[in-house]
Formats: sequence, C-alpha cells, structure tokens
Amino acid sequence: MKMNENGPPEDTRFKTENEIKLKGTTICPGIGIGQAQVLDPEFIIPRNEIHKDQVQSEQQSYSEAVKTVSDHLHEHIEEVHAGSSLSSSLILKNHEAMLTDEQFHKEVLSRISTEYKNAAWALEVEGEKIIAGLEASRSPYLMSRAEDIRDLVASIVDALSPTPETYKKALRKNGEPKVCISGNLFPSSVMEARRFHSVAFATESAALSSHAAILLKGFGIPAIGGLRGLRESAVDGDQVIVDAINGVVIIRPEPETVKQYITLKQELEVPEELPPSPPISARTKDGTNVRLVANINNPDQIHLVLQNRLEGVGLFRTEFFVLETENFPTEQEQYDIYRRVFTAADGRRVVTRTFDIGGDKQIADLHYCTGQNPALGVRGVRRHLLRRPDEIQTQLCAILRAAVGFPVGILIPMITTVDDIREVKRLFENVKEKLRRENKPFSEEIQIGAMIEVPAAAISVGDILAEVDFVNVGTNDLLQYFVAADRDNDAVLMYENFENKAFLWLLKFIIDRAAELGKENNVTICGEVASHPELVPLLLSLGFRSLSITPTSAKSTRNAIANTDLRGSSIKPTVD
Ligand code: PEP
Ligand code: MG
Repeated sequence: MKMNENGPPEDTRFKTENEIKLKGTTICPGIGIGQAQVLDPEFIIPRNEIHKDQVQSEQQSYSEAVKTVSDHLHEHIEEVHAGSSLSSSLILKNHEAMLTDEQFHKEVLSRISTEYKNAAWALEVEGEKIIAGLEASRSPYLMSRAEDIRDLVASIVDALSPTPETYKKALRKNGEPKVCISGNLFPSSVMEARRFHSVAFATESAALSSHAAILLKGFGIPAIGGLRGLRESAVDGDQVIVDAINGVVIIRPEPETVKQYITLKQELEVPEELPPSPPISARTKDGTNVRLVANINNPDQIHLVLQNRLEGVGLFRTEFFVLETENFPTEQEQYDIYRRVFTAADGRRVVTRTFDIGGDKQIADLHYCTGQNPALGVRGVRRHLLRRPDEIQTQLCAILRAAVGFPVGILIPMITTVDDIREVKRLFENVKEKLRRENKPFSEEIQIGAMIEVPAAAISVGDILAEVDFVNVGTNDLLQYFVAADRDNDAVLMYENFENKAFLWLLKFIIDRAAELGKENNVTICGEVASHPELVPLLLSLGFRSLSITPTSAKSTRNAIANTDLRGSSIKPTVD
C-alpha cells in the first residue's frame, strides 16, 4: 500500500546499519522526538526471613511506604484535576481506591507476622496471588487490571527501598526532551511521563485497553504499544522518534530521517495559543465538498475538535464512563458530562453513541452477559434490548435533557435488524413520555441514528434508513464481521484489509442504496479507515461525502481530499 503523504519515510530509502524501525499499534496519535529514557525499575525484590522482634518495625515500614505512594498519587490527582482531564482524574481516583484496600494490606501485614517474611516479600506474594487470579480469567479487561496491581506492588517496593538513582530522577533532569521506553504499561509510569513533560511513550505492552493506555490518550502524549523487541533495541540516551500517526518507532534514526520528521511534526502541530477558529471545509480538486467531523473517545478530546477546526463530532464513544470507572454512572453524572461536551462544541453537532459494551470492550461483571464468544454475543444495543433496558433508558434521559439548545444526534451501536431499531425507538418514546410526566425539559429535535457495523445491517441499510435520521458506517466492526477475523487478533491481521474487493463492494452497496433513496448525505463513515489519508480518495470515489476521523488526522485528511480529483473517477468494484 502506498504511504500517505504524511507517512513515515519509506523503509528502503532510509534503512541503515544503525536505524532500527519497530512496528506497533498507536495508542495516542502524534509525533515525539527525543532521548530514550528507560522506565522499568530494575529492582530485585529483597526476600529475607525476619526475626520475631522485627515484625513490628517491618509492618511499620510497610504502612509508611503505602502512605508515601498514596501521597504521590494524591499529588498527581490534584495536578490532573487542575488540568481538568476528567476521565484521567477518575482513573487515578480508582487507582487510589485500590491503594486503600484495607483487606489487601491486612493480608500483607499478616504474612509479615505469621510467615516472618520481610515487607517487600510479603507484598510480592500477596500481589502475585491477585495477579494470577486476574490473568487466569479470559477477560481482556481483567487481564489488563493485573497491570495496575503490578504497578502498585512495584511502587510500594520502590518506596520500601529507595534506590539513589531512580528513573524518576533521570526524567526530571533538564536537557533533551525525553521519550519514555517501557516493557510495561503502568499508570505510575504514564503519570511520571506527564509530570516531567516527556514528548512520547513507547511500550512493549499490548494492553491497549489498560488504564495506563487510557491515561496516555487523556494526557495527549503520543504513544505506541505492542512494540516487540523495544527494550532490547533501545538504551538510555538513544535518539528515538515515535511516529504515533503510523505506529512506528525509529531508534537511532539517520539525520535525514530526523529532518523529515521535524518537518512532519511541524505540519501536524496546531499552535495551542491560537483561539479555536470556525471549521474549515474540505473540498476536492474538482470542488466537491466533503464533511469532516471527529471521533472522540472521552470528553477531554472535545478541544481537539475545535483546535483541528472540524465541523462537529461524528462519533462520541460514551463507554469510557463504564470502562474507565468500572461503574455505571447515574443520570445526573452523565447529564453533567454531556452538557459540558455539548456546550464546549460551540454550536457544532455532537453525535453521541449509547454505551457499546461487550466484544473487546469488557468490564468485570459482564461475562454472564456477553457469553463465551463476546464479539458475537450480547454486545452494544443487544445488551440493552435483551438484558439491561434500564441502562439505555437512563442514558437516553441524560442525553435528551443535556441536549436542550444544542444540535445533537443519538447513535445506536450493533444494530443488526430493522426490528432492533424499531425496538430502540419504542424505548426512546417511553423515555420522552417519562420526562414529560416528570416535567423535565428535554430536546424534541434530537436525531436518531444507527451504526452500520454488522453485515446484515449493511444489506438492510435501505430499510434502516427509513426508520432513522442518519447512519454511521463502522468499518472497524463491519470488516471484522464480514471477513470473520477478530479485529484485535494479530494472527488474522492479514484479513483486516480495507481494500478487500468484496468489502469495497459492500461499502459501495451501502452508499448507492442510500443515494437511491436520496439519503446519501445522511451517511457518514466513522471507522478507522476514514482516518487513513491514503484511503480517503478511495472512499470518495465510492461516493462517501462525510467522514468522521481521529481529530489529529484532520490536516492530512484535508490535504488528501484537496489532492483528489473526482472527475470521471467513480469506482464500481466488481467481485470476480
Ligand atoms: C467501528 O466499529 O467502526 C466503530 C467506529 O466503532 P468502535 O470502533 O467503537 O467499535
Ligand atoms: Mg464498532
């Protein structure tokens, strides 16, 4: 596949003896260039038996170490709060709750007094017990929580035996901007990275739904995960480029590569001090208008929509509430957040998707709901129609109330049949009725839309469009279900090819069917495919005119659109 014009320099031209390129998965898009700082504390947990007389002092050291870690965490929470990164401060509070788990500390203290183990050893044993339980689960969610426990254990051990030269001190030193390199993905490492203004984060860990990954996104630190061989390829002080647009890390780059990336970084940067300006429209060479809106994963990202001068939010993923806090928020908590996002959008339309839980987006108590094969089980709207109508009713109430005075759309994930959408509409009417009875003001103008991400829904798009105001084509799931290949399974990644002819035929079918009904303007592509500038000309020639993208790819997408000439280029994919 041809690289986009903002893509990394091609391998063949710049591969040298020294320069090492590793491919991973983008966690937070952006580009960072700096000096490697390896974060993993290389401590060996001291294990020694203690004497009866030492029990008390060992227990006291343990309690003091927990307090030190707690104080540090508290400082972070205050800082994050001051920076108003809402989802991030919720995660840190959660982390703090783990640290104040009385039962856990009791078990550690009891191991010290009954097994005569020193504090670090007792802590290690207790931590491993919990980690083993979490890792034995089949849930990616619980497995990534194990990383949080490891982090807490490492931080307490660190506080029990402070070494003179820690990576934290090295990070703090002035000088070249630092790129954090880590084998793990620990929240505390991410917090240090933020605190000392690191320019990027690269990790071997593929725990992309871990709390640390969510923190990286919330802080806007360019980051890549799943980089096999990273720790053995980079040492402290190496120059490193983290290209988290294309998911590539370059270690000890050639001067020419650095020059190219400095230019690319400048091109992508949006000066922070400029006040947000009105949206910029996107137009092809032949003058066709293309609507560019944004995908956002949490409320903190709304400022990126304004900064990148996009026309609105095409997809606001709300499941962050549940995934990040491990709780279902109350109607009032949701109302407050939605209201804040709609207000900040400054008149732009915000398409808010109801919770899409299940599949890859698992939470602790959901297994019974999603079944053995979560991607094909009770996921997205199925959860709400089959198991928990109360959750969607609460969410609809909150969105409807918060939308008063703002242009808002409600989007329903994992619609499979036209009956699904009719059922949701019934729930929707019940919710409005309830609000009327309670005399609570709500928006009557709100629009309703369906995600087209299941092949059966794609084929029924005409019938679905007759029921809703708009549809969003979710190509991430549509492709996974169409080619029967898990979107998160590296072993079948070869099937995740957006240019698969059969898949293009399906996309063309969707937009043509909408056009037959005169509703082509009610169709937006919101899957990752739209954020790949090199694929944008293809989407346009299939007939799509509305793209919802990662905000940071706005500039390169606009360029790709401006370089596209649609005269005589309509594509009719055939499957032979
Ligand atoms: C999609 O499936 O393409 C989509 C946009 O939704 P998500 O990635 O949140 O499943
Ligand atoms: Mg989806």
